[in-house]
Amino acid sequence: MSKKKSAAVLGGAPDAGSDQKLRIVSIGAHPADVFDQSGGTMLHHTARGDYVACISLTHGARVHDAVISEDMFHRKEIPEAAELTQMIGDRSDVKAQEVRKACKILGIDDVYFMGIDDSIMLVERDTIRRLARLLRQIRPDIILTHYPFEGDGHVSPHAVAGQIAMHAAGFAGSVDPGDRNPPLRTMQTFFFGDGAASVRNGLWDARGGYTNDVFVDITDVIDKKFAAMECLVSQGYAGVYNRKRTERSDGAFGGGSFSYGEGFIRGGSEKHYYLPITAFARQRARSSDHEVMRHYSWRLPMPVADTMANRPPSLKE
Ligand SMILES: [Zn+2]
Repeated sequence: MSKKKSAAVLGGAPDAGSDQKLRIVSIGAHPADVFDQSGGTMLHHTARGDYVACISLTHGARVHDAVISEDMFHRKEIPEAAELTQMIGDRSDVKAQEVRKACKILGIDDVYFMGIDDSIMLVERDTIRRLARLLRQIRPDIILTHYPFEGDGHVSPHAVAGQIAMHAAGFAGSVDPGDRNPPLRTMQTFFFGDGAASVRNGLWDARGGYTNDVFVDITDVIDKKFAAMECLVSQGYAGVYNRKRTERSDGAFGGGSFSYGEGFIRGGSEKHYYLPITAFARQRARSSDHEVMRHYSWRLPMPVADTMANRPPSLKE
């Protein structure tokens, strides 16, 4: 028995394995979710040499789509079944191209579209089984996905996607006839923070509900995340929406710590041998008051024309 192994068996310091590359998969209900919720974090990891893949459960053709959502609303009559099905397929292809372009900006080559219709999202055995097989194939160490109780925790497609992901992660730990890949055990699950929990800036914010307990400083890559979000033209995310969501979400999650951040909720409590002190905490403790303020007060310049045409109808003359 090696010295290292005996220490682990006896409860000593385990081999941290911190030099090993991680495999990360971000699972979203809709194609935009993975960028929206974890784009900056994913970019940090691809830049470090970790493997990152994205999975979109649905094709997302109905979500804010310029044709299927917006145009249909203003029509007097919806096209007959075959034509509408064809249109949904075409719009799915448009969205998939945008997503691949956005992933390239974030250094991600592997994007998996499970192609589920985003009409009625249900926790279904067939979907879970397909996703579990995909996870056994991709073999992630870390799963990023929606919080299973987001919103009403029942009808919300994000909540359902989180539940499907958790069922699949559980089943991936076992065997399935026809799948030759061995069972998979992941290290940790981080649930997307936006929409799942209130902004947490300290322990007392945790009272009364679930709150984000991990924040990733994405200030250094916010321009690239912004550029990735700009690719999602078909659902109206480019331009003023992107600018607003960047400040509303990433800016809020930066809070009083950094200019832009992404928030997550850890699935499992962390176990340590030593008290965990992050690099960020060390840096902050060695910074002056104004140095700290400078770290969270910067704003990404966004050259987007905020014309009257983009303002809410209530504000128009
Ligand atoms: Zn979504």
